[in-house]
Amino acid sequence: MTEAAATAKTNLLGLPRPELEAFVAGLGEKPFRARQLMTWIYKRRVGDFAQMTDLAKSFREKLAQVAEVREPEVITEQASSDGTRKWLLRAAATDGREQAIEAVFIPEPGRGTLCISSQVGCALDCSFCSTAQQGFNRNLGTAEIVGQVWLANRLLAGDAPGGTDTANRAVTNVVLMGMGEPLANYRNVLPALALFMDDLGFDLSRRRVTLSTSGLVPQLRKLAEDTNCALAVSLHAPNDALRDQLVPINRKHPIRELLDACWHYLDAQNGRSITFEYVMLDGVNDRPEHARELADLLVGHDAKVNLIPFNPFPGTKYRRSPAPVIAQFRDYLNSRGVTTTTRRTRGDDIDAACGQLAGRVHDRTTIRLGSKLLPLTVQS
Ligand code: SAH
Repeated sequence: MTEAAATAKTNLLGLPRPELEAFVAGLGEKPFRARQLMTWIYKRRVGDFAQMTDLAKSFREKLAQVAEVREPEVITEQASSDGTRKWLLRAAATDGREQAIEAVFIPEPGRGTLCISSQVGCALDCSFCSTAQQGFNRNLGTAEIVGQVWLANRLLAGDAPGGTDTANRAVTNVVLMGMGEPLANYRNVLPALALFMDDLGFDLSRRRVTLSTSGLVPQLRKLAEDTNCALAVSLHAPNDALRDQLVPINRKHPIRELLDACWHYLDAQNGRSITFEYVMLDGVNDRPEHARELADLLVGHDAKVNLIPFNPFPGTKYRRSPAPVIAQFRDYLNSRGVTTTTRRTRGDDIDAACGQLAGRVHDRTTIRLGSKLLPLTVQS
């Protein structure tokens, strides 16, 4: 399908409630029709207008001409031995080259987490992340972001895998921790967050929608005004010298500035706490002195730490810290009063673990942030 054909009709998955109301008003319908449409799309998971029987036939026909509910196309699906599922999804081609992103479903007792992508690739160039190696192609549209959750719900419901845990048949938690930097695609991510939390949308509570960022401070400050989802921050190092190496955006927005924006977010949103992600790299950021520095930064704040054992990918120079080193790091932070957990590695047999998502990205970045710092090739 060409891009022109793909965009000819409005994909309703890209319209949060106010925009959908405006859209139906533009078709000469009352705004409450938007509520009915949302109920069909998000509650009943029906995307075919012909089936929306409480809408007038004339309206359904009009809709079919100008709108659609189009979910991403699945290129491949892989299932891990631990139940994790990974979908490679087609994203509309740019420059005639096929692009693909990945979404990962992680079932746990009582909950099903979908890890979604926000960009095709990533421009931030974190040295330990496989997505970064792919380069950056483009931002995903809101419909492509929302479509990942809509599709997963539909596929999971269809599978009905015998068990009694309904959470494993539906997405109960969404984390923007797949490919891309969500705050670099602010314009399209914000309406997606609204749909995840809208009670006529996916109806997830603010604690079940987590945006993870590498630390785009201006956008993070704006986020505090615009939404109230849970926040995770990829810290990965307790001082600027080290973080400059691991997360190059730090050269632009150093740790102090980032943490100030984090505490501001909590205040503004009356949030409970922020989770700081910290990848455990053998001999790089996992020493006792790093744990001490990290505790000094976070103690006394509403902060939690989530240690992520490094997940290797081809060509990486890093190794995962040994389990006892990770345990010691965790125990030290806990002893200082900083609640710290270790993320269980899921889906690594299908390269679905944190930092392993690669998709298919045709790199269009001319200047990578890591090498030149400026300009910021990503838009807000
Ligand atoms: N760009 C956002 C969203 C990605 S979230 C962000 O940086 O927060 C994915 C999380 O996995 C981030 O904390 C990221 O730093 C971490 N990660 C990346 N590569 C990893 C790897 N190889 N092993 C473990 N964690 C990794």
